[in-house]
Amino acid sequence: MRGGRGAALALLLAACKAPGDGVIALEGATLINGSGGRPVEDALLLVKAGHIEVAARVNEVKVPRGASVLSLTGKTIIPGLIDSHAHVERWAIERYLVWGVTTVRDLGASGTDSGLALRSAVNLGSLLGPRMFTAGAMIDGVPPTYPAATGVATPGQGRQAVDQRAVAGTDLVKIYTKITPQLLAAIMDEAATLRLPVAAHLGKTDAITAARAGVESLEHMAGVVQAAAPDPAPYFQAHDRFLAGWTLEEKGWAGLDSAAVARVARALAATHVGLVPTLVLHETLSRLDNPTLLSRPGMEDVPAAAASVRDVAGLLQRAGWRPADFQAFRRARARQDQFVREFKRAGGLIAAGSDAANQLLVPGLSLHEEMSLLVTAGLTPLEAITAATRRGAQLLRADSLGVLAPGKVADLVVLDGDPAKSIGATRRIAWVMVRGRLIRPDSLRRTWH
Ligand SMILES: [Zn+2]
Repeated sequence: MRGGRGAALALLLAACKAPGDGVIALEGATLINGSGGRPVEDALLLVKAGHIEVAARVNEVKVPRGASVLSLTGKTIIPGLIDSHAHVERWAIERYLVWGVTTVRDLGASGTDSGLALRSAVNLGSLLGPRMFTAGAMIDGVPPTYPAATGVATPGQGRQAVDQRAVAGTDLVKIYTKITPQLLAAIMDEAATLRLPVAAHLGKTDAITAARAGVESLEHMAGVVQAAAPDPAPYFQAHDRFLAGWTLEEKGWAGLDSAAVARVARALAATHVGLVPTLVLHETLSRLDNPTLLSRPGMEDVPAAAASVRDVAGLLQRAGWRPADFQAFRRARARQDQFVREFKRAGGLIAAGSDAANQLLVPGLSLHEEMSLLVTAGLTPLEAITAATRRGAQLLRADSLGVLAPGKVADLVVLDGDPAKSIGATRRIAWVMVRGRLIRPDSLRRTWH
């Protein structure tokens, strides 16, 4: 008799457990799924256990009984955004989320925050934040630009630095401006053996040499001027010092021949190297002489103690830039945009990255500024969204990210507007979902103010 009652109870419990328990149904929005295809209206997404179970049209699939239904008519869903060039600091972690950035590609901190420690804290759930892929400390020549970087003087030391990163468990390797072609060859050989992708901020190596050696991505378009200028030697030499190298290279863009820019763009696209232009960095530096930028909308998200974003005066003092420098930086922007356009036309992979939290680059917000600048340069709004989603996932070799389809992770952003019509609509964020968890940006913001 007792056994019989138990069995009946079990049957009753099974009947109460509706098939939709634990399912979130997102119903009625327009879906931009990240693949670059046409938006789908009246979409239905079913999310369970942090993954997309179903991506269909409303009425094509029945919402299971017991599901939590969120009606999103009039809204647009895009995949969670991927910032392909970030320097993640602890304070910034939640800022990324409120701006819909659910994955960051961390390219090494110049300060003391360890990308590896932050990645662990987020993955273990002790910190609410975006998925983190990290390069750990950068590999540079000697002396290294930042104290936290590893300086290498010989090919052997270059190999050793790559080995150290493999042991530490980094997701990729970041090389910096003082790496010469000779050091690069050793680093690339070791990284290929260990299957670690290499992100390159170049200085003493030109972009074509680096791309042919197999780097995964060109950061900031650095090394392009060296490849397109008639004589790269002065640029290589200026990169003995970081700011001198940056300044000469940035001004060098302004003097490039447009045919040379097109030729380099085609040669690079043919190597299948990825490009992370960080136009927002170039644009911001070209206007750094404008003091009103320190109080522009969005800066209220940045705590007073966040020196990296706010230290404009310090950078201006260290760099010694004069009005003529800023004029050249502003002229350079047209050539940089032309390069992005030619690279796209040649079929090159473009990923959106911000370089936050460097000067005036607000974590999260600056990725939306990057998407807008990519559109100004010649991408369509859908291409800019793909650059900030699917293309970023490709650089990370993470095929479950950056696209909303069955089996992929449930990282997405619900927008109040239509970004296919106007890219600025990516900033009108109603909801963010990360790992299947829904977040209201305003509620999260209230916890810091
Ligand atoms: Zn950077």
